[in-house]
Amino acid sequence: MAYDFDLYVIGAGSGGVRAARFAAGFGAKVAVAESRYLGGTCVNVGCVPKKLLVYGAHFAEDFEQASGFGWSLDEAQFDWATLIANKDREINRLNGIYRNLLVNSGVTLHEGHARIVDPHQVEINGERFTAKNILIATGGWPQIPEIAGHEHAISSNQAFFLKELPKRVLVVGGGYIAVEFAGIFHGLGAETTLLYRGELFLRGFDGSVRKHLQEELTKRGMGLQFNADIERIDKQADGSLKVTLKDGRQLEADCVFYATGRRPMLDNLGLENTGVKLDKKGFVEVDELYQTAEPSILALGDVIGRVQLTPVALAEGMAVARRLFKPEQYRPVDYKMIPTAVFSLPNIGTVGLTEEEAREAGHEVVIYESRFRPMKLTLTECQERTLMKLVVDARTDKVLGCHMVGPDAGEIVQGLAIALKAGATKRDFDETIGVHPTAAEEFVTMRTPVAG
Ligand code: FAD
Ligand code: NDP
Repeated sequence: MAYDFDLYVIGAGSGGVRAARFAAGFGAKVAVAESRYLGGTCVNVGCVPKKLLVYGAHFAEDFEQASGFGWSLDEAQFDWATLIANKDREINRLNGIYRNLLVNSGVTLHEGHARIVDPHQVEINGERFTAKNILIATGGWPQIPEIAGHEHAISSNQAFFLKELPKRVLVVGGGYIAVEFAGIFHGLGAETTLLYRGELFLRGFDGSVRKHLQEELTKRGMGLQFNADIERIDKQADGSLKVTLKDGRQLEADCVFYATGRRPMLDNLGLENTGVKLDKKGFVEVDELYQTAEPSILALGDVIGRVQLTPVALAEGMAVARRLFKPEQYRPVDYKMIPTAVFSLPNIGTVGLTEEEAREAGHEVVIYESRFRPMKLTLTECQERTLMKLVVDARTDKVLGCHMVGPDAGEIVQGLAIALKAGATKRDFDETIGVHPTAAEEFVTMRTPVAG
Protein backbone atom coordinates (compact mmCIF):
# COMPACT_ATOMS: atom_id res chain seq x y z
CA MET A 1 0.00 0.00 0.00
CA ALA A 2 1.24 3.50 -0.81
CA TYR A 3 1.25 5.76 2.22
CA ASP A 4 1.17 9.58 2.22
CA PHE A 5 4.32 9.59 4.38
CA ASP A 6 7.05 7.15 5.38
CA LEU A 7 7.10 8.70 8.86
CA TYR A 8 4.52 10.88 10.63
CA VAL A 9 5.99 12.50 13.74
CA ILE A 10 3.61 13.85 16.38
CA GLY A 11 5.33 16.63 18.33
CA ALA A 12 7.94 19.12 17.12
CA GLY A 13 9.96 19.14 20.32
CA SER A 14 13.56 18.10 20.90
CA GLY A 15 13.13 14.44 19.92
CA GLY A 16 10.49 14.84 17.21
CA VAL A 17 12.36 17.54 15.29
CA ARG A 18 15.62 15.60 15.43
CA ALA A 19 13.97 12.39 14.17
CA ALA A 20 12.01 14.22 11.44
CA ARG A 21 14.97 16.20 10.10
CA PHE A 22 17.33 13.25 10.00
CA ALA A 23 14.71 10.93 8.50
CA ALA A 24 14.06 13.48 5.74
CA GLY A 25 17.80 13.86 5.26
CA PHE A 26 18.01 10.10 4.71
CA GLY A 27 15.48 10.44 1.89
CA ALA A 28 12.25 9.57 3.72
CA LYS A 29 8.95 11.39 3.14
CA VAL A 30 8.26 12.93 6.54
CA ALA A 31 5.55 15.06 8.19
CA VAL A 32 5.60 16.53 11.68
CA ALA A 33 2.57 17.78 13.59
CA GLU A 34 2.83 20.45 16.29
CA SER A 35 -0.13 21.71 18.31
CA ARG A 36 1.50 24.34 20.48
CA TYR A 37 5.00 25.62 19.86
CA LEU A 38 7.89 24.72 17.55
CA GLY A 39 10.88 23.41 19.46
CA GLY A 40 8.68 21.92 22.18
CA THR A 41 9.18 22.18 25.92
CA CYS A 42 12.91 22.83 25.90
CA VAL A 43 12.76 25.87 23.64
CA ASN A 44 9.49 27.36 24.89
CA VAL A 45 8.93 26.49 28.55
CA GLY A 46 12.02 24.53 29.53
CA CYS A 47 15.80 24.55 29.20
CA VAL A 48 16.21 27.72 27.16
CA PRO A 49 13.94 30.27 28.90
CA LYS A 50 14.93 28.71 32.26
CA LYS A 51 18.62 29.26 31.57
CA LEU A 52 17.93 32.86 30.50
CA LEU A 53 16.14 33.47 33.81
CA VAL A 54 19.01 31.81 35.70
CA TYR A 55 21.45 34.20 33.99
CA GLY A 56 19.15 37.05 35.04
CA ALA A 57 19.13 35.89 38.65
CA HIS A 58 22.91 35.47 38.68
CA PHE A 59 23.46 39.19 38.20
CA ALA A 60 22.35 39.81 41.79
CA GLU A 61 25.51 38.19 43.14
CA ASP A 62 27.70 39.67 40.41
CA PHE A 63 26.61 43.16 41.49
CA GLU A 64 27.23 42.29 45.13
CA GLN A 65 30.71 40.93 44.44
CA ALA A 66 31.74 43.72 42.07
CA SER A 67 32.53 46.10 44.94
CA GLY A 68 35.40 43.82 46.05
CA PHE A 69 37.00 44.52 42.69
CA GLY A 70 36.65 48.27 43.06
CA TRP A 71 33.39 48.78 41.24
CA SER A 72 30.74 50.91 42.81
CA LEU A 73 27.21 50.93 41.56
CA ASP A 74 24.12 52.79 42.56
CA GLU A 75 21.64 50.40 44.05
CA ALA A 76 20.80 47.89 41.30
CA GLN A 77 17.20 47.81 40.10
CA PHE A 78 15.54 44.81 38.52
CA ASP A 79 12.60 44.89 36.12
CA TRP A 80 10.87 41.52 35.61
CA ALA A 81 8.80 42.78 32.64
CA THR A 82 11.96 43.63 30.69
CA LEU A 83 13.50 40.23 31.35
CA ILE A 84 10.32 38.41 30.28
CA ALA A 85 9.84 40.56 27.14
CA ASN A 86 13.45 40.01 26.07
CA LYS A 87 13.16 36.30 26.80
CA ASP A 88 9.95 36.12 24.71
CA ARG A 89 11.67 37.86 21.80
CA GLU A 90 14.51 35.35 21.88
CA ILE A 91 12.10 32.40 22.03
CA ASN A 92 10.19 33.81 19.01
CA ARG A 93 13.47 33.96 17.14
CA LEU A 94 14.19 30.33 18.03
CA ASN A 95 10.68 29.26 16.93
CA GLY A 96 11.47 30.75 13.51
CA ILE A 97 14.77 28.89 13.37
CA TYR A 98 13.00 25.60 14.13
CA ARG A 99 10.46 26.30 11.38
CA ASN A 100 13.27 26.89 8.88
CA LEU A 101 15.18 23.82 10.03
CA LEU A 102 12.15 21.62 9.37
CA VAL A 103 11.05 23.19 6.12
CA ASN A 104 14.59 23.39 4.70
CA SER A 105 15.16 19.73 5.40
CA GLY A 106 12.08 18.85 3.36
CA VAL A 107 9.76 17.97 6.26
CA THR A 108 6.05 18.79 5.82
CA LEU A 109 4.86 20.78 8.84
CA HIS A 110 1.25 20.45 10.01
CA GLU A 111 0.29 22.91 12.72
CA GLY A 112 -2.54 21.58 14.88
CA HIS A 113 -3.47 18.80 17.28
CA ALA A 114 -2.78 15.36 15.83
CA ARG A 115 -4.84 12.31 16.74
CA ILE A 116 -4.09 8.75 15.77
CA VAL A 117 -7.14 7.18 14.13
CA ASP A 118 -5.62 3.79 13.31
CA PRO A 119 -2.11 2.31 13.41
CA HIS A 120 -1.25 3.92 10.05
CA GLN A 121 -3.40 7.03 10.07
CA VAL A 122 -3.34 10.44 11.76
CA GLU A 123 -6.04 13.11 11.76
CA ILE A 124 -5.14 16.79 12.03
CA ASN A 125 -7.23 19.90 11.33
CA GLY A 126 -9.98 17.69 9.87
CA GLU A 127 -7.66 15.97 7.36
CA ARG A 128 -6.36 12.41 7.46
CA PHE A 129 -2.90 11.26 6.44
CA THR A 130 -1.55 7.75 6.16
CA ALA A 131 1.97 6.78 7.21
CA LYS A 132 4.04 3.63 7.21
CA ASN A 133 5.30 4.58 10.68
CA ILE A 134 3.99 7.00 13.30
CA LEU A 135 6.36 8.43 15.92
CA ILE A 136 4.89 9.65 19.21
CA ALA A 137 7.13 12.47 20.48
CA THR A 138 4.54 14.40 22.45
CA GLY A 139 6.64 15.08 25.56
CA GLY A 140 5.31 15.74 29.05
CA TRP A 141 3.21 18.12 31.09
CA PRO A 142 3.55 19.41 34.68
CA GLN A 143 1.72 17.38 37.26
CA ILE A 144 0.23 19.14 40.30
CA PRO A 145 -1.28 16.91 43.03
CA GLU A 146 -5.00 17.53 43.48
CA ILE A 147 -4.89 19.00 46.97
CA ALA A 148 -7.63 21.42 48.04
CA GLY A 149 -6.95 24.76 46.34
CA HIS A 150 -4.49 23.36 43.77
CA GLU A 151 -6.09 25.67 41.20
CA HIS A 152 -4.37 28.59 42.97
CA ALA A 153 -0.94 27.08 42.31
CA ILE A 154 1.13 27.54 39.16
CA SER A 155 3.58 25.27 37.35
CA SER A 156 6.68 26.05 35.27
CA ASN A 157 4.39 26.59 32.27
CA GLN A 158 2.90 29.71 33.85
CA ALA A 159 6.03 30.86 35.71
CA PHE A 160 7.65 31.91 32.43
CA PHE A 161 4.80 34.32 31.71
CA LEU A 162 4.02 35.88 35.10
CA LYS A 163 3.16 39.57 34.75
CA GLU A 164 5.09 40.49 37.87
CA LEU A 165 7.73 38.95 40.07
CA PRO A 166 5.81 37.72 43.15
CA LYS A 167 7.03 39.12 46.47
CA ARG A 168 6.76 35.84 48.39
CA VAL A 169 7.06 32.49 46.61
CA LEU A 170 6.63 28.97 47.94
CA VAL A 171 8.23 26.42 45.65
CA VAL A 172 6.97 22.86 46.16
CA GLY A 173 9.12 19.87 45.16
CA GLY A 174 12.71 18.78 45.48
CA GLY A 175 13.74 17.94 41.91
CA TYR A 176 15.46 19.85 39.12
CA ILE A 177 12.68 22.35 38.43
CA ALA A 178 11.98 23.18 42.08
CA VAL A 179 15.63 23.82 42.88
CA GLU A 180 16.25 25.82 39.70
CA PHE A 181 13.18 28.03 40.05
CA ALA A 182 13.76 28.59 43.75
CA GLY A 183 17.18 29.94 42.72
CA ILE A 184 15.63 32.14 40.03
CA PHE A 185 12.99 33.66 42.32
CA HIS A 186 15.43 34.10 45.19
CA GLY A 187 18.12 35.62 42.98
CA LEU A 188 15.69 38.08 41.45
CA GLY A 189 14.64 39.29 44.88
CA ALA A 190 11.53 37.35 45.88
CA GLU A 191 11.29 36.02 49.42
CA THR A 192 11.58 32.34 48.53
CA THR A 193 10.93 29.14 50.46
CA LEU A 194 11.35 25.66 49.03
CA LEU A 195 9.12 22.98 50.56
CA TYR A 196 10.07 19.37 50.06
CA ARG A 197 8.19 16.34 51.38
CA GLY A 198 11.32 14.24 52.14
CA GLU A 199 14.36 14.53 54.42
CA LEU A 200 16.60 16.23 51.84
CA PHE A 201 15.94 17.44 48.29
CA LEU A 202 17.42 16.10 44.99
CA ARG A 203 16.82 12.44 45.69
CA GLY A 204 19.09 10.35 43.47
CA PHE A 205 21.95 12.87 43.44
CA ASP A 206 25.15 12.21 45.39
CA GLY A 207 24.69 12.68 49.16
CA SER A 208 27.58 15.19 49.43
CA VAL A 209 26.10 17.25 46.60
CA ARG A 210 22.66 17.39 48.20
CA LYS A 211 24.08 18.39 51.59
CA HIS A 212 26.44 20.96 50.09
CA LEU A 213 23.68 22.63 48.10
CA GLN A 214 21.48 22.71 51.18
CA GLU A 215 24.25 24.53 53.09
CA GLU A 216 24.92 26.99 50.27
CA LEU A 217 21.26 27.86 49.76
CA THR A 218 20.83 28.34 53.49
CA LYS A 219 23.84 30.69 53.55
CA ARG A 220 22.20 32.70 50.79
CA GLY A 221 19.08 33.12 52.87
CA MET A 222 16.70 30.87 50.93
CA GLY A 223 14.08 29.24 53.14
CA LEU A 224 14.35 25.46 53.03
CA GLN A 225 11.65 23.37 54.67
CA PHE A 226 12.07 19.63 54.42
CA ASN A 227 9.59 17.01 55.63
CA ALA A 228 6.95 19.56 54.66
CA ASP A 229 3.89 18.90 52.53
CA ILE A 230 0.92 21.11 51.68
CA GLU A 231 -2.57 20.06 52.71
CA ARG A 232 -4.54 22.98 51.29
CA ILE A 233 -4.20 26.39 49.66
CA ASP A 234 -6.74 29.13 50.33
CA LYS A 235 -6.98 32.39 48.47
CA GLN A 236 -7.47 35.34 50.83
CA ALA A 237 -9.44 38.55 50.28
CA ASP A 238 -6.28 40.54 49.45
CA GLY A 239 -5.30 38.00 46.75
CA SER A 240 -2.51 36.42 48.79
CA LEU A 241 -2.46 32.67 49.48
CA LYS A 242 -2.73 30.94 52.84
CA VAL A 243 -0.99 27.60 52.76
CA THR A 244 -1.76 24.95 55.38
CA LEU A 245 0.80 22.20 55.80
CA LYS A 246 -0.04 18.62 56.78
CA ASP A 247 1.57 19.22 60.18
CA GLY A 248 -0.85 22.11 60.78
CA ARG A 249 1.58 24.98 60.23
CA GLN A 250 0.39 27.88 58.09
CA LEU A 251 2.42 29.97 55.66
CA GLU A 252 1.55 32.97 53.50
CA ALA A 253 2.65 33.52 49.95
CA ASP A 254 1.80 35.47 46.81
CA CYS A 255 2.65 32.55 44.55
CA VAL A 256 2.73 28.80 45.11
CA PHE A 257 4.79 27.11 42.43
CA TYR A 258 4.53 23.33 42.07
CA ALA A 259 7.36 21.36 40.50
CA THR A 260 6.31 17.86 41.43
CA GLY A 261 7.17 15.97 38.27
CA ARG A 262 5.77 15.65 34.79
CA ARG A 263 3.26 13.23 33.26
CA PRO A 264 3.35 12.00 29.65
CA MET A 265 1.34 14.18 27.24
CA LEU A 266 -1.18 11.73 25.78
CA ASP A 267 -4.30 13.93 25.87
CA ASN A 268 -6.72 13.12 23.05
CA LEU A 269 -3.94 11.33 21.15
CA GLY A 270 -6.18 8.43 20.12
CA LEU A 271 -4.08 5.66 21.65
CA GLU A 272 -7.31 3.71 22.20
CA ASN A 273 -7.36 3.19 18.41
CA THR A 274 -4.06 1.34 18.59
CA GLY A 275 -2.41 -1.51 20.47
CA VAL A 276 0.06 0.88 22.18
CA LYS A 277 0.58 -0.08 25.83
CA LEU A 278 1.49 2.13 28.76
CA ASP A 279 3.85 1.21 31.62
CA LYS A 280 2.96 1.26 35.33
CA LYS A 281 3.57 5.00 35.58
CA GLY A 282 1.49 5.75 32.49
CA PHE A 283 4.37 6.40 30.08
CA VAL A 284 4.37 4.82 26.60
CA GLU A 285 6.01 1.41 26.77
CA VAL A 286 8.69 0.80 24.16
CA ASP A 287 11.37 -1.82 23.55
CA GLU A 288 15.06 -1.06 23.03
CA LEU A 289 14.27 0.06 19.46
CA TYR A 290 11.58 2.54 20.62
CA GLN A 291 8.92 0.25 19.18
CA THR A 292 5.57 0.27 20.99
CA ALA A 293 3.30 -2.75 21.26
CA GLU A 294 1.76 -1.55 17.96
CA PRO A 295 4.28 -2.55 15.24
CA SER A 296 3.89 0.63 13.11
CA ILE A 297 4.11 3.05 16.06
CA LEU A 298 7.28 4.24 17.81
CA ALA A 299 7.78 6.63 20.72
CA LEU A 300 10.69 8.54 22.26
CA GLY A 301 11.64 11.39 24.58
CA ASP A 302 9.77 12.44 27.71
CA VAL A 303 6.66 10.48 26.72
CA ILE A 304 8.51 7.19 27.30
CA GLY A 305 9.65 8.40 30.75
CA ARG A 306 13.23 7.10 30.66
CA VAL A 307 15.54 10.07 31.07
CA GLN A 308 13.73 13.37 30.69
CA LEU A 309 16.55 15.46 29.23
CA THR A 310 16.81 17.20 25.86
CA PRO A 311 20.12 15.64 24.76
CA VAL A 312 18.64 12.21 25.48
CA ALA A 313 15.53 12.96 23.37
CA LEU A 314 17.88 14.17 20.60
CA ALA A 315 19.93 10.96 20.76
CA GLU A 316 16.76 8.86 20.68
CA GLY A 317 15.47 10.86 17.69
CA MET A 318 18.69 10.22 15.81
CA ALA A 319 18.58 6.50 16.69
CA VAL A 320 15.00 6.15 15.41
CA ALA A 321 15.74 7.97 12.14
CA ARG A 322 18.80 5.82 11.52
CA ARG A 323 17.12 2.57 12.42
CA LEU A 324 14.20 3.21 10.07
CA PHE A 325 16.00 4.83 7.15
CA LYS A 326 19.75 4.29 7.48
CA PRO A 327 20.07 0.99 9.35
CA GLU A 328 23.73 0.58 8.43
CA GLN A 329 24.47 3.67 10.59
CA TYR A 330 22.27 2.62 13.53
CA ARG A 331 23.85 2.69 16.96
CA PRO A 332 21.83 2.20 20.16
CA VAL A 333 21.65 5.09 22.63
CA ASP A 334 24.00 4.49 25.55
CA TYR A 335 22.14 5.47 28.72
CA LYS A 336 25.23 5.12 30.90
CA MET A 337 27.33 8.13 31.84
CA ILE A 338 24.73 10.75 30.91
CA PRO A 339 26.08 14.04 32.24
CA THR A 340 23.58 16.47 33.70
CA ALA A 341 23.46 19.86 35.36
CA VAL A 342 21.02 21.45 37.74
CA PHE A 343 21.12 25.18 37.11
CA SER A 344 20.61 26.06 40.73
CA LEU A 345 22.67 28.93 42.12
CA PRO A 346 25.32 27.58 42.60
CA ASN A 347 25.09 24.99 39.78
CA ILE A 348 25.36 21.24 40.15
CA GLY A 349 27.20 19.22 37.51
CA THR A 350 27.33 15.46 37.64
CA VAL A 351 28.24 12.43 35.56
CA GLY A 352 28.44 8.74 36.40
CA LEU A 353 27.66 6.95 39.63
CA THR A 354 26.98 8.62 42.94
CA GLU A 355 28.88 7.26 45.94
CA GLU A 356 25.67 5.60 47.13
CA GLU A 357 25.00 3.96 43.72
CA ALA A 358 28.60 2.76 43.42
CA ARG A 359 28.53 1.12 46.86
CA GLU A 360 25.12 -0.40 46.18
CA ALA A 361 26.39 -1.85 42.90
CA GLY A 362 29.10 -3.65 44.87
CA HIS A 363 32.08 -1.47 43.95
CA GLU A 364 34.80 -1.09 46.50
CA VAL A 365 35.20 2.69 46.28
CA VAL A 366 37.77 5.35 47.07
CA ILE A 367 36.34 8.84 47.50
CA TYR A 368 38.16 12.09 46.77
CA GLU A 369 36.50 15.29 47.86
CA SER A 370 37.55 18.90 47.85
CA ARG A 371 35.75 21.96 49.21
CA PHE A 372 37.24 25.36 48.59
CA ARG A 373 36.45 29.04 48.28
CA PRO A 374 36.66 29.92 44.55
CA MET A 375 39.43 32.40 43.72
CA LYS A 376 36.95 34.92 42.32
CA LEU A 377 35.39 35.25 45.77
CA THR A 378 38.63 35.94 47.66
CA LEU A 379 38.25 39.70 47.11
CA THR A 380 34.62 39.65 48.19
CA GLU A 381 32.59 39.06 51.31
CA CYS A 382 30.93 36.00 49.76
CA GLN A 383 31.63 32.83 51.72
CA GLU A 384 30.32 30.39 49.08
CA ARG A 385 32.30 27.18 48.76
CA THR A 386 32.68 24.87 45.81
CA LEU A 387 32.46 21.08 46.14
CA MET A 388 34.19 18.61 43.88
CA LYS A 389 34.02 14.87 44.33
CA LEU A 390 35.37 11.81 42.55
CA VAL A 391 34.08 8.29 43.08
CA VAL A 392 36.79 5.79 42.10
CA ASP A 393 36.71 2.00 41.86
CA ALA A 394 39.44 0.75 44.23
CA ARG A 395 40.09 -2.40 42.22
CA THR A 396 40.25 -1.04 38.65
CA ASP A 397 41.14 2.60 39.46
CA LYS A 398 38.34 3.64 37.06
CA VAL A 399 36.61 6.92 37.86
CA LEU A 400 32.98 5.93 38.31
CA GLY A 401 31.53 9.37 39.00
CA CYS A 402 32.36 13.10 39.08
CA HIS A 403 30.21 15.54 41.02
CA MET A 404 30.47 19.28 41.50
CA VAL A 405 28.56 22.11 43.12
CA GLY A 406 29.88 25.50 42.13
CA PRO A 407 30.05 28.11 39.37
CA ASP A 408 29.96 26.65 35.85
CA ALA A 409 29.63 23.07 37.13
CA GLY A 410 27.59 22.15 34.03
CA GLU A 411 30.28 23.51 31.71
CA ILE A 412 33.04 21.67 33.57
CA VAL A 413 31.32 18.33 33.78
CA GLN A 414 30.72 18.09 30.01
CA GLY A 415 34.44 17.51 29.38
CA LEU A 416 34.73 15.09 32.28
CA ALA A 417 31.88 13.06 30.77
CA ILE A 418 34.03 12.31 27.72
CA ALA A 419 36.84 11.09 29.97
CA LEU A 420 34.49 8.85 31.94
CA LYS A 421 32.87 7.50 28.78
CA ALA A 422 36.34 6.64 27.50
CA GLY A 423 36.97 4.71 30.74
CA ALA A 424 39.45 7.10 32.39
CA THR A 425 41.19 5.94 35.55
CA LYS A 426 42.15 8.06 38.54
CA ARG A 427 45.72 7.75 37.29
CA ASP A 428 44.65 9.33 33.97
CA PHE A 429 43.14 12.19 35.94
CA ASP A 430 46.35 12.53 38.02
CA GLU A 431 48.54 12.55 34.91
CA THR A 432 46.45 15.23 33.21
CA ILE A 433 48.00 18.69 33.49
CA GLY A 434 45.67 21.25 35.04
CA VAL A 435 44.59 24.56 33.53
CA HIS A 436 45.75 27.17 36.00
CA PRO A 437 44.25 29.08 37.69
CA THR A 438 40.80 27.54 37.32
CA ALA A 439 38.38 25.75 39.59
CA ALA A 440 38.27 22.86 37.09
CA GLU A 441 41.93 21.98 37.72
CA GLU A 442 40.92 20.71 41.14
CA PHE A 443 39.52 17.63 39.39
CA VAL A 444 43.07 16.62 38.38
CA THR A 445 44.83 17.60 41.61
CA MET A 446 42.88 15.68 44.25
CA ARG A 447 45.43 13.30 45.75
CA THR A 448 44.25 12.26 49.21
CA PRO A 449 41.17 10.11 49.56
CA VAL A 450 38.64 11.16 52.18
CA ALA A 451 37.00 7.75 52.38
CA GLY A 452 37.55 4.22 51.16
P1 FAD B 1 8.83 18.07 24.09
O1 FAD B 1 10.01 18.94 23.91
O2 FAD B 1 7.95 18.32 25.26
O3 FAD B 1 7.98 18.19 22.74
C1 FAD B 1 6.71 17.62 22.60
C2 FAD B 1 5.92 18.44 21.60
O4 FAD B 1 4.77 17.72 21.22
C3 FAD B 1 5.40 19.75 22.20
O5 FAD B 1 5.80 20.83 21.39
C4 FAD B 1 3.88 19.59 22.21
O6 FAD B 1 3.18 20.82 21.98
C5 FAD B 1 3.69 18.62 21.06
N1 FAD B 1 2.44 17.83 21.13
C6 FAD B 1 1.97 17.15 22.21
N2 FAD B 1 0.84 16.49 21.87
C7 FAD B 1 0.61 16.78 20.56
C8 FAD B 1 -0.41 16.37 19.64
N3 FAD B 1 -1.38 15.51 19.98
N4 FAD B 1 -0.36 16.89 18.38
C9 FAD B 1 0.62 17.74 17.99
N5 FAD B 1 1.63 18.12 18.82
C10 FAD B 1 1.61 17.63 20.08
N6 FAD B 1 16.38 19.26 29.85
C11 FAD B 1 17.72 19.47 29.75
O7 FAD B 1 18.42 18.64 29.16
N7 FAD B 1 18.30 20.58 30.29
C12 FAD B 1 17.58 21.53 30.94
O8 FAD B 1 18.14 22.53 31.41
C13 FAD B 1 16.19 21.35 31.05
N8 FAD B 1 15.43 22.27 31.68
C14 FAD B 1 14.08 22.09 31.75
C15 FAD B 1 13.34 23.05 32.42
C16 FAD B 1 11.97 22.90 32.53
C17 FAD B 1 11.17 23.95 33.25
C18 FAD B 1 11.33 21.76 31.95
C19 FAD B 1 9.84 21.60 32.03
C20 FAD B 1 12.06 20.80 31.29
C21 FAD B 1 13.45 20.95 31.19
N9 FAD B 1 14.25 20.00 30.56
C22 FAD B 1 15.60 20.18 30.48
C23 FAD B 1 13.65 18.77 29.98
C24 FAD B 1 13.46 18.90 28.45
O9 FAD B 1 12.75 20.07 28.17
C25 FAD B 1 12.72 17.69 27.93
O10 FAD B 1 13.39 16.51 28.32
C26 FAD B 1 12.62 17.71 26.40
O11 FAD B 1 11.98 18.86 25.94
C27 FAD B 1 11.86 16.46 25.92
O12 FAD B 1 11.72 16.50 24.52
P2 FAD B 1 10.54 15.72 23.80
O13 FAD B 1 10.82 15.82 22.34
O14 FAD B 1 10.36 14.39 24.39
O15 FAD B 1 9.21 16.54 24.15
P1 NDP C 1 11.49 15.59 39.27
O1 NDP C 1 10.95 14.25 39.02
O2 NDP C 1 12.92 15.87 39.03
O3 NDP C 1 11.17 16.02 40.76
C1 NDP C 1 9.88 15.97 41.28
C2 NDP C 1 9.94 16.37 42.74
O4 NDP C 1 8.62 16.54 43.23
C3 NDP C 1 10.63 15.34 43.61
O5 NDP C 1 11.37 16.02 44.60
C4 NDP C 1 9.46 14.58 44.23
O6 NDP C 1 9.75 14.08 45.51
C5 NDP C 1 8.44 15.69 44.37
N1 NDP C 1 7.06 15.21 44.33
C6 NDP C 1 6.52 14.34 43.45
N2 NDP C 1 5.22 14.18 43.70
C7 NDP C 1 4.92 14.94 44.77
C8 NDP C 1 3.73 15.18 45.53
N3 NDP C 1 2.58 14.59 45.20
N4 NDP C 1 3.80 16.04 46.57
C9 NDP C 1 4.96 16.64 46.90
N5 NDP C 1 6.11 16.44 46.24
C10 NDP C 1 6.10 15.61 45.19
O7 NDP C 1 10.55 16.53 38.41
P2 NDP C 1 10.65 18.05 37.97
O8 NDP C 1 9.23 18.47 37.85
O9 NDP C 1 11.57 18.83 38.84
O10 NDP C 1 11.31 17.95 36.53
C11 NDP C 1 10.89 17.01 35.56
C12 NDP C 1 12.05 16.50 34.77
O11 NDP C 1 12.47 17.48 33.82
C13 NDP C 1 13.32 16.23 35.59
O12 NDP C 1 13.31 14.98 36.20
C14 NDP C 1 14.40 16.34 34.56
O13 NDP C 1 14.58 15.11 33.91
C15 NDP C 1 13.87 17.39 33.60
N6 NDP C 1 14.52 18.67 33.89
C16 NDP C 1 15.86 18.78 33.65
C17 NDP C 1 16.52 19.95 33.96
C18 NDP C 1 17.99 20.05 33.71
O14 NDP C 1 18.54 19.23 32.99
N7 NDP C 1 18.66 21.03 34.28
C19 NDP C 1 15.83 21.09 34.51
C20 NDP C 1 14.43 20.87 34.72
C21 NDP C 1 13.82 19.70 34.41
P3 NDP C 1 10.44 12.66 45.77
O15 NDP C 1 11.88 12.83 45.41
O16 NDP C 1 10.22 12.46 47.21
O17 NDP C 1 9.74 11.68 44.88
